[in-house]
Amino acid sequence: MESRDYLVRAMLGANQARVIALRTTQVVAEAQKVHGTSPVATAALGRTLTMGLVLGAMLKTDETLTIQIKGDGPLGGIVVAANSRGHVKGYVNNPQVELPLNAAGKLAVGQAVGRGYLHVIRDMGLKEPYYGTVPLQTGEIGDDFAYYFAVSEQSPSAVMLGVLVGRDGAPLGSGGIVVQLLPDAASHQEFISGLEQRLGGMNQVSSLFAEGRTPEEIVTEVFAGLEIRFLDRQDVQFLCDCSRERFARGLVTLGAAELRQLADKGEPVEVVCHFCNKRYIFSLEDLDTLLQELGNTGA
Ligand SMILES: [Zn+2]
Repeated sequence: MESRDYLVRAMLGANQARVIALRTTQVVAEAQKVHGTSPVATAALGRTLTMGLVLGAMLKTDETLTIQIKGDGPLGGIVVAANSRGHVKGYVNNPQVELPLNAAGKLAVGQAVGRGYLHVIRDMGLKEPYYGTVPLQTGEIGDDFAYYFAVSEQSPSAVMLGVLVGRDGAPLGSGGIVVQLLPDAASHQEFISGLEQRLGGMNQVSSLFAEGRTPEEIVTEVFAGLEIRFLDRQDVQFLCDCSRERFARGLVTLGAAELRQLADKGEPVEVVCHFCNKRYIFSLEDLDTLLQELGNTGA
């Protein structure tokens, strides 16, 4: 059985809708391992990582994006960053939060996230970044992104996300399907109600992935009878691009005065990457070298 995570893009009908479907079981397993998240935190972070990859697949090469979910629930906020090459990373503020299951017997993601805002920041290199903000609808992540697409991008969309967490806390299945109506579909009420019916009758997307179904199989099953054209496929993974050099540059941007203050404490400086929990230690000698660099550039 093929277990690598990947994303597929497809067109439905006579180019009436586009579909992105992806499996993120390994992505979420890696995030769970790195952050030691509780089941409800794994589900919230996993759904957001999945959406990071979906939005990443809509970027142009070299663009990057950041998703910030700022809710007032006990989870305390979610940050996810992705690029167009299928790389995603992310964290939650309180990874150990535990909540009882909700009334439907599911992980209480909406309650963990709470009320607040969803922000999407798209970094387009030289151009001004794009900011989109919408109020959270339910905090269940899928609903919030469907609302974001409708309001911020005027693109009516259906978003299904799911993370099935096993007894040991590791995800058994994770993934999503996003369907976006293209302008052509607006006049095809029949097409739209057909889609809604199919999506409504679909099993939990996380269970389908847990059963070992591929993104293509799930799309083919859900949209059986419609013309489906698969466009391309991309591997996806949890990957942090942090490095010692990057954190050294970060220390340098503090400026000479603040850096000297740190060095004067007489202890090595430890920096932790929020996204992957990697630790970087800068010894007093390292700090001296950075200070000398600053001196040389006159900063
Ligand atoms: Zn990192």
